[in-house]
Amino acid sequence: MLDLPLDPEGVKGFMPPEEGMELYRAVELAPPGLPCLEIGSYCGKSTIYLGTACQRSGRVLFAVDHHAGSEEHQPGEGYHDPELATADGQGVDTFGAFRATVKAAGLEDTVVPVVAPSALAARAWATPLGVLFIDGGHSREAAQADYAGWVPKLASGGLLLIHDIFPNPADGGRPPYELWCQAQDSRKFEVLGLFHTLGMLRKR
Ligand code: SAH
Ligand code: MG
Repeated sequence: MLDLPLDPEGVKGFMPPEEGMELYRAVELAPPGLPCLEIGSYCGKSTIYLGTACQRSGRVLFAVDHHAGSEEHQPGEGYHDPELATADGQGVDTFGAFRATVKAAGLEDTVVPVVAPSALAARAWATPLGVLFIDGGHSREAAQADYAGWVPKLASGGLLLIHDIFPNPADGGRPPYELWCQAQDSRKFEVLGLFHTLGMLRKR
């Protein structure tokens, strides 16, 4: 098992330990020195795995999230958590919980929060990335925007990680699976594996 500074299972979120371990491993496989970036941090569960691996290899992790939650996290939706509701009860704010996780895990010297819509941050992004982890909005529009905006920022030899891939439509939504197919069809990637619902590819 991985030795982590904070048990991710005590943090709210959607990253099972088996997949979290693969996030950690992906950072180790990435070209040395380059920063890593995750889209969709929520309360920082995946950030613990990626951030700890980055810290131990002297990298920076950029954690992109507007922290207003995805569609399914909003009040009245299936994955709403009342503890994360805004004071007026109309929305969601995960930034406080995220900051607390980063602090408790001792990752403030490694993780740079980027509190913005991912497409906005992508517009001005110029630094080549060693790892890109896509786990933001799951609508087709959001998933496609993340792919179009961020995949070109991946360095040659860098790792592309896509979460929530369900090859069988009965198991879950299509857009992340469509990105997975798109990456393979582009012939710009070598497939390293599909670990539960986490797809891992390396840019040629
Ligand atoms: N990786 C997290 C889960 C992410 S949930 C974990 O390990 O638990 C998806 C996150 O994506 C939510 O926090 C939501 O606020 C964020 N998100 C959705 N659409 C976004 C967008 N367009 N820009 C930035 N963040 C977005
Ligand atoms: Mg996910």
